Amino acid sequence: MVMALVVQKYGGTSVGDAERIRAVADHVARTREAGNDVVVVVSAMGKFTDDLIRLADDVSPTRPPRELDMLLTAGERISMALVCMALADRGVGSSSFTGSQAGIITDTDHTRAKILEMRPDRIREALDAGLVPVVAGFQGVSTERDITTLGRGGSDVTAVALAAALKADVCEIYTDVTGVFSADPRVVSTARRLSKVSFDEMMEIAATGGRVLMLRSVEFARRHGVPLHVRSSFTWEPGTWIVEEDPTMEEAVVSAVTDDKSEAKVTVGGVPDRPGVAAQLFRELANRGINVDMIVQNTSAKGMTDISFTVSKTDLDAARETCNQVKNEIGAAEVTSDDSIGRVSIIGAGMKSSPGVTALMFETLSENGINIEMISTSSIRISCVVRAERVDDAVRALHTAFGLDAA
Ligand code: ASP
Ligand code: MG
Repeated sequence: MVMALVVQKYGGTSVGDAERIRAVADHVARTREAGNDVVVVVSAMGKFTDDLIRLADDVSPTRPPRELDMLLTAGERISMALVCMALADRGVGSSSFTGSQAGIITDTDHTRAKILEMRPDRIREALDAGLVPVVAGFQGVSTERDITTLGRGGSDVTAVALAAALKADVCEIYTDVTGVFSADPRVVSTARRLSKVSFDEMMEIAATGGRVLMLRSVEFARRHGVPLHVRSSFTWEPGTWIVEEDPTMEEAVVSAVTDDKSEAKVTVGGVPDRPGVAAQLFRELANRGINVDMIVQNTSAKGMTDISFTVSKTDLDAARETCNQVKNEIGAAEVTSDDSIGRVSIIGAGMKSSPGVTALMFETLSENGINIEMISTSSIRISCVVRAERVDDAVRALHTAFGLDAA
């Protein structure tokens, strides 16, 4: 028997009701019978976190972040206790732990805290005692000893951080899809499951709309070299491995096409073209905690230029407000915005060594009459902003053009 330490993270749908929780307990029991040690990390049941946020909204427009965190961490506590009960029924000894009990120490930035330190002593002790530790995801305790949350989708981060701290052999992320796909199967019926992707590719996929894994958890896994295995808790079949790039592997030129309709575009027009202007604009945006994504600055004409960038639609109002303030200070002409945009991206580690990828992408969009409004690239990604209503067409056309359709 191969002894391994496996961290298993179960997302909301995987623990969505009593039957799902029993299925999870069965799988944990099976994994143990195969000779492995198991640490379980759970999300809140189904859409429970959303329900709690709605409840808070109904109660009060004022929601102190400390109290919101206290409220939201209740969801994961329910899951962990129920999973332990189901395990007990199967004769598997287990113990539940809140993030705080699991030694997840964070900063004091409520609702989106960052992990500063891991002290999983109690988790190690439970493992040594032959128990399955079941840890509430998405939460920790701050250096001020307050309960914090790690941001939406944060249970992935909990799982990866525990896997890193415990030097686990693998971190399995159980979800309601069978892995990472070459495109969103709801958009592209011929999308294929990828058996293996590199950390770098997965970071680009997560950052450009791939909804399977939270970006921060992939960054964390890459930094600590934790192999991830994304798989289904409904079929239990092997899914997608996310691992260090293997230099002996022949890399696909394009592995995946992603889409993202969650962003809006802001344009500051008639910006004086002199040093310091862009710096001032993006400093103010950063100071307000606004994450800017793609940025395009036009070549200047008559000492004036336009700067466009994309932000999450949820940050659009704040971004517009900030730009309007800066506009007056720097003497720009106008601030406009557009929330009917979408982004389509192609990602592939093999792109680095294959010329013509950009050309094929642009040709494919042009053949389909899809206008490109913004472009950005990394060494393994090309993204284009197009009209929101053409995003799905663009994804399908690119999936075919790059030979990704399943045979
Ligand atoms: N329950 C939290 C959320 O819905 C954390 C998670 O599921 O990872 O965001
Ligand atoms: Mg989730």
